[in-house]
Amino acid sequence: MSGPRNVAVLGATGSIGRSTLDVIARHRERFRAFALTAHTQGDELFELCVAHRPALAVLADEAQARVLRSRVAASGLPTEVLAGGRGLIAAVEHPDVECVMAAIVGAAGLAPTLAAARAGKKLLLANKEALVMAGPIFMAAVRASGATLLPIDSEHNAIFQCLPERARGGVQGCGVRKIVLTGSGGPFRTRPLAALAHVTPAEACAHPTWSMGRKISVDSATMMNKALEIIEAHWLFGASASAIEILVHPQSVVHSMVEYADGSVIAQLGNPDMRTPIAQALAHPDRIDAGVASLDLARLAALTFEAPDFDRFRALALAYDVLAAGGTAPAIFNAANEVAVGAFLSGELAFPRITEVIEATLEHVPAGAVGRLEDVVEADARARSAAGTALAHAIVRTA
Ligand code: NAD
Ligand code: MG
Repeated sequence: MSGPRNVAVLGATGSIGRSTLDVIARHRERFRAFALTAHTQGDELFELCVAHRPALAVLADEAQARVLRSRVAASGLPTEVLAGGRGLIAAVEHPDVECVMAAIVGAAGLAPTLAAARAGKKLLLANKEALVMAGPIFMAAVRASGATLLPIDSEHNAIFQCLPERARGGVQGCGVRKIVLTGSGGPFRTRPLAALAHVTPAEACAHPTWSMGRKISVDSATMMNKALEIIEAHWLFGASASAIEILVHPQSVVHSMVEYADGSVIAQLGNPDMRTPIAQALAHPDRIDAGVASLDLARLAALTFEAPDFDRFRALALAYDVLAAGGTAPAIFNAANEVAVGAFLSGELAFPRITEVIEATLEHVPAGAVGRLEDVVEADARARSAAGTALAHAIVRTA
């Protein structure tokens, strides 16, 4: 090996970003945090610059970047500070960057994640929303550039590990009967439906098995996260919707599985710790220590499974409808969710209304074809506007 591989960590201050830096710090001979980015968390990003001494740091806002620039200079760090969308693109396209961890949350990650795919990087994809929004464009970019796409989402990383190499880019014709995505069911799986109107953002973010950012935690509570993951699996593995199943597994130990034509089922297991898929993808095809404890099945004693409740978790049924509709429908679905989750987290919208807002948006915004990225960007904007209207109605009805 010719020295450590340079990694750009987009969303370095987030849950996935920090787990990535934890794995990198355990293997400084293999990996270098070359570029670190954050939205508005300038103090946190400065601390990460002190700990990792990256060549580049990026903040969204130029005024905040100026503050970071002077702090970095005063501390004698070797870090150039950039700002905005251009800064993000410069970080992923930098010729010295070999590997990009795409861990910005939501649609905000689309442009830099797609830029990494187009630049032919080794792309570690956590930002599922980017793929959901722009699946055909994204996968075409990966194919055209020869980028290596490695899923970080624990379910998709598990599937990747359960598939033979020749099936990883597309399962058709490879003897795969179905892909089974497991999901914990979130914190409200068994809560009486009538009680859901009163759940708080803090309760929704207290996931029973995973520690994650706030948006994906709410997505897990509505199972919108699993809904997005159905679409993600469709694009990553070329699987038809009918070959993707959801299985509720509250312990989050079986991360997903593949069933083959001969009846074999291959699963990937581990403790629920995102450092496992991160280390798997960073080191691929090698295996490295991720700092994750051994799985103690004797102590766990029981793993349980149940069919998902499609009435309680409407988002799951909507995901299959959206896949059948195709085109910009997944982008509309994703945008509506981002608006609704934002409103729930700021205390404006009752929890059960999140899925109602998504459904109303899908009804009001017709899906179109996806030819260019602009089609996706326009659908996203239209959906945000329609979701805003649906939100206003939902808030009025609740009040
Ligand atoms: P998080 O909220 O903890 O962190 C998000 C990061 O993105 C932060 O560094 C933030 O500064 C940055 N960011 C947010 N908005 C931005 C913007 N507009 N412009 C630039 N940067 C911005 O989120 P997370 O839980 O780490 O999730 C990140 C992504 O990984 C999401 O797409 C999520 O679905 C996916 N994911 C997360 C987990 C998990 O365990 N946390 C598991 C699977 C997939
Ligand atoms: Mg997941």
